[in-house]
Amino acid sequence: MSNKLKMKKLTFIIFIFICSNTFCQKYILVLDAGHGGKDPGAVYGNIQEKDITLSLVLEVGNILSNTYENIKVIYTRQSDIFIPLIERTRIANKSHANLFVSFHVNASKSIEANGYEVFVMGNTKVKAWLETAIAENSVAIYEENYLESYDGIDPNSIEGYIAFSLYQNQFLNKSISLADKVTNSTLQIAPFTNRGIKQAPFFVLYKATMPSILIEMGFISNQHDREWITNKDNQKKLAQNLANAIADYIVNVDNFPLKEKSILATQNQLSKANDETNEELIYYIQFLSSNEIFTNTHKIYKDFPSDSISYYFFNNTYKYIYGEFTDYNQARQKLNYVKDKGYNDAFIVKFRNGKRVL
Ligand SMILES: [Zn+2]
Repeated sequence: MSNKLKMKKLTFIIFIFICSNTFCQKYILVLDAGHGGKDPGAVYGNIQEKDITLSLVLEVGNILSNTYENIKVIYTRQSDIFIPLIERTRIANKSHANLFVSFHVNASKSIEANGYEVFVMGNTKVKAWLETAIAENSVAIYEENYLESYDGIDPNSIEGYIAFSLYQNQFLNKSISLADKVTNSTLQIAPFTNRGIKQAPFFVLYKATMPSILIEMGFISNQHDREWITNKDNQKKLAQNLANAIADYIVNVDNFPLKEKSILATQNQLSKANDETNEELIYYIQFLSSNEIFTNTHKIYKDFPSDSISYYFFNNTYKYIYGEFTDYNQARQKLNYVKDKGYNDAFIVKFRNGKRVL
């Protein structure tokens, strides 16, 4: 081996060594846009919770990953697809995330009900809080084997939630610190009533192995809240303040030193952000359509790792998709891989801003 080559190899080994230490470590943040696909969440006319949560989550994620070089943002979804509640937690646990934040918009039968609240995981005897958790948990009935996934608890039965009375939240203090920062930061710019920080048994939070919160950003059923949260400029302001609060938590509560990107890199990203093309296209490989959702014993789960496939509901059928690519050529390469598994009719589908682009 030539000296030059030896040198290269050594540099490479040193690089690996350094990066396995804290120098190169990234803070892993999972952002969860509530609902999606066949589950619209709360609805008022043609306004759907799933759209508001997705656009906010993408905005918050963009701000954080454009500002800091040592943060890794993982989204549970980046498009309008259905993801089971248990899968959202699984994504966070599997990626050894440091923090999990789930975004929602509330709804009530009373048009008077309004305000902003942040939940941490825990049991409660307060009926109103439990009802919020039940409303959010009820989407579990769309899922296969939901009783199994949530330890036999029927999401719609108040009695079932007694099972949570033994639940111990080892991340409670940190979760409350984040909830507090998020609430204060939001109320600096948003005219929401402060409903406070509460504990309730949310399916999406209780198996998370890291600090986690669920934010209810106003009530879609209340005119004042709805008008504010559906306004794009307000959403941008809110996303910035939420990103600030999360960064503040990471640095000051989790004691993780976030490193800002160089000014040049940030400027490049900002000019990209101002560009219309910022609404990035995301590619998936669609390989199967079905009238029903497959259980995890289906052949597709033998052909592909379960975290690489998902589905969305379109034209009354479930479309199964593989991967997630921001680069078209990468999707093209993987298309052959999918076809080689016997899905000869597989093709690439595009999504922009959570919507399928035809
Ligand atoms: Zn929700």
